[in-house]
Amino acid sequence: MRNYDIVVIGGGPAGLAAARSAYENGCHSVLLIERDTKLGGILNQCIHNGFGLAHFGEELTGPEYAHRAIEEMRETASDVDILLDTFVMEITPDKTIYAMNKEDGYFEISAKAIILAMGCREKARGALAIPGTRPAGVMTAGLAQHYVNIDGYMVGRKVVILGSGDIGLIMARRMVLEGAKVLACIEIAPQPGGLARNITQCLEDYGIPLYLRQTVTAIHGKERLTGITVSEVDENYAPIPGTEREIECDTLLLSCGLIPENELSRKAGLAIDPKTGGPFASQSLETSVPGIFACGNVLHVHDLADNVTKESIEAGKAAALFVSGQTASTAQEALEHPKEFPRKVVKPADDSNSGSHSMIDNDAEFAARRMTCIICPRGCQLSVVLSDPPVVSGNSCPRGEEYAIAEVTHPMRTLTTTIRIRKDDGTLSRISVKSKGEIPKEELFELAEKIHHTIIDAPVKVGDEVIAGVIATSAI
Ligand SMILES: Cc1cc2nc3c(=O)[nH]c(=O)nc-3n(C[C@H](O)[C@H](O)[C@H](O)COP(=O)(O)OP(=O)(O)OC[C@H]3O[C@@H](n4cnc5c(N)ncnc54)[C@H](O)[C@@H]3O)c2cc1C
Ligand code: SF4
Repeated sequence: MRNYDIVVIGGGPAGLAAARSAYENGCHSVLLIERDTKLGGILNQCIHNGFGLAHFGEELTGPEYAHRAIEEMRETASDVDILLDTFVMEITPDKTIYAMNKEDGYFEISAKAIILAMGCREKARGALAIPGTRPAGVMTAGLAQHYVNIDGYMVGRKVVILGSGDIGLIMARRMVLEGAKVLACIEIAPQPGGLARNITQCLEDYGIPLYLRQTVTAIHGKERLTGITVSEVDENYAPIPGTEREIECDTLLLSCGLIPENELSRKAGLAIDPKTGGPFASQSLETSVPGIFACGNVLHVHDLADNVTKESIEAGKAAALFVSGQTASTAQEALEHPKEFPRKVVKPADDSNSGSHSMIDNDAEFAARRMTCIICPRGCQLSVVLSDPPVVSGNSCPRGEEYAIAEVTHPMRTLTTTIRIRKDDGTLSRISVKSKGEIPKEELFELAEKIHHTIIDAPVKVGDEVIAGVIATSAI
């Protein structure tokens, strides 16, 4: 049996930060286990920007954030052992880990402390109980994101998104940029679930309607999805008879929530908090089993990777203290004083049927345009009086004013997509790329089309300009 002081399960931003922090806090016997063939977790498929403002002080794409987090670990904690392509099947309260990979088969590891960082998964069709047939073309938005961004497969041409969580919104934009028609985003709640900035930059920018207080009540099609029935719902979310309408489509992407990935935690007997779906945790992120810690999306679903990193640094430190016998936290404390996690604050909805946040108010002395600032996740609601010069209010920082003035004069966006790359052995693969800085909004499709028809040659490093005006955000 192998022995380590600390074993971290999961190599996403949580696992990377926790392993680094455990090492930096004096524990030099650390193993990080990841089931995928590379580190980075879900960030590898999140090729859009919007990550890293808090932790790295600049806006990065998901793969760039992962790259930086891996570099950070290599710089200060290079002796952390890493096992890739290795699946943890079970952990026990005495901190034995049962894992499996192609080289070693089934094996055991003994640890003094374990840090759980397995992330979360999406609610699939089974959990949503949508009636109808079971054709191809119905999948979670995250799975579609993996097919499109990692594998390079287009998942459909006429798409409806069910649920207005951030993954669904991001995928709505992604599908449009890949040439699909996104017909609607359907949300059962009276307000959108995702960040206001994503409503603006993923739906409004592309004219995709958001229908609130509606849901999918039937799925049609035999081999492939041919359409769905959509109904309005009452205040108890029950479909209202007589409000049904049909939408012809070949793809339904489900974006109806995330659940912490806690099969291992349950098997190990950890007490699970029904409010978060993750383990109960004390202030030091220790679960109800002493010496087992949890951080990131396995603990509770986070909107921002920066917050995952911050929390996981604490978990790594707490585990290192535990191993050196200095922690005061106990299992009982975790149950009696569970850590309070921030709940998502949703904006109250207006009475309209659309989630539009950008509108013209003609009653003002000068016409005013209202909009959501998309520069950071705070999503301030801005108002721009269309005078000369325009007057902006509602912004919490100067960047909001710059954004609003640009938005009414020459709107700019960053394009993120993927490009085909020919590897040394002649086979084709895909890497993620972004436009070099922001480009005029009306040029997004032209650049996306150019990238779509281009094949570049490996090797490529993060930051390389692979074609004029296009920067690699992942490497091969
Ligand atoms: C589609 C999407 C869009 C997002 N957009 C943004 C955004 O714009 N800005 C932002 O800041 N944040 C965004 N987030 C949130 C952010 O990406 C996540 O909060 C963060 O990546 C979670 O980190 P994690 O390490 O907890 O989980 P993950 O990144 O999911 O990593 C968990 C890792 O654990 C591994 N694992 C799981 N089980 C096992 C096992 N049994 N054995 C071995 N390994 C295992 C998995 O393979 C995975 O690599 C987004 C998230 C998603 C899903
Ligand atoms: S105004 Fe400033 S704080 Fe508000 S969303 Fe824009 S960038 Fe963020």
